[in-house]
Amino acid sequence: MPLLEFNDLSVALPAMARPILDGVSLTVAAGEAVALVGESGSGKSVTARAALGLFPAGAAIGGHVRVDGAELVGADAGRLREVRTGKASMIFQDPRAGINPVRRVGDFLTESLRLTGGWSKARANARALELLTAVGLPDPARHLRQYPHELSGGMLQRVMIAGALTAEPRLLLCDEPTTALDVTTQAEIMAILRRLQRERGLGLLLITHDIDLAAATCDRIYVMYAGRIVETGTATELLTAPRHPYTAGLLGSTPPLDGPLGRLTPIRGVPMGLLESAPGCSFAARCPHARPGVCDRTAPDLAPPATARIPASTARSGPALVACHLADEIGGRPAMAAVCAAPS
Ligand code: SF4
Ligand code: MG
Repeated sequence: MPLLEFNDLSVALPAMARPILDGVSLTVAAGEAVALVGESGSGKSVTARAALGLFPAGAAIGGHVRVDGAELVGADAGRLREVRTGKASMIFQDPRAGINPVRRVGDFLTESLRLTGGWSKARANARALELLTAVGLPDPARHLRQYPHELSGGMLQRVMIAGALTAEPRLLLCDEPTTALDVTTQAEIMAILRRLQRERGLGLLLITHDIDLAAATCDRIYVMYAGRIVETGTATELLTAPRHPYTAGLLGSTPPLDGPLGRLTPIRGVPMGLLESAPGCSFAARCPHARPGVCDRTAPDLAPPATARIPASTARSGPALVACHLADEIGGRPAMAAVCAAPS
């Protein structure tokens, strides 16, 4: 049983032309690091929040979200609390937004243990010290007494990671956890997350716009566009031979984590908004391969490509899939990023 399972999840708001999420299926196994990649507005943060049973007010929900087997769609308050305070934790982009500026770090870390767990002050403090050490902070005893403004953004994000681990969750959800930080600190935070994930056998879902960061950190990647998964595979598969033109476009438009910068080619056009819809492929308006009469007729299903690319997927979460009518014709070639540079 996967630790996190989205099964055909749809989230729709009235008065919008298309659903925010449309038939999203995704799994994260225990001990597996998985990334969900897409531009802003693609629906990835809504997906992350759905993993905690948080849905936009007034939305119609279809399908299933299960954490460790517990269904979150239509769940009562008790089950949601059980998931949010024990099974799963979330780390957000801006650490300062998640911590009370006038309370000490130690209080932030021990409060829930003492209030909901009934821990003694000494035991909760010992646990906080252990976690601050685990996230690599230099002087845990001093940090416990400090206020958030006394710590840098990177140190504070480490505190947030420690906070997310206090209840010993099995699933860690990270929504753009390094976007607010400088490049060096980004790499440190990702290394800490990955180490803790491996040491503790956690399931990790990394939400990011940065496909190179995803590939450097995660075993498996899902690419989301306009509320749908358009491609999934191992990090190696997607990085070396993307099948979907959008994946190829993301690879061509983000600077690599290491190595020379090369020429960056942004994907032409803008993502489809919630007030727009398309009868066919939602990427057609931006796709350099769009074929009239094919791509604008029906939406492509997410399916295994007919031709195998590099050795069959070894991921525990399932096979490589792509949603593109022409994937077998155009996909899987390393030169795809260059193709996407075609002038609009
Ligand atoms: Fe491009 Fe057509 Fe594939 Fe959509 S279905 S990504 S428009 S080639
Ligand atoms: Mg977001």
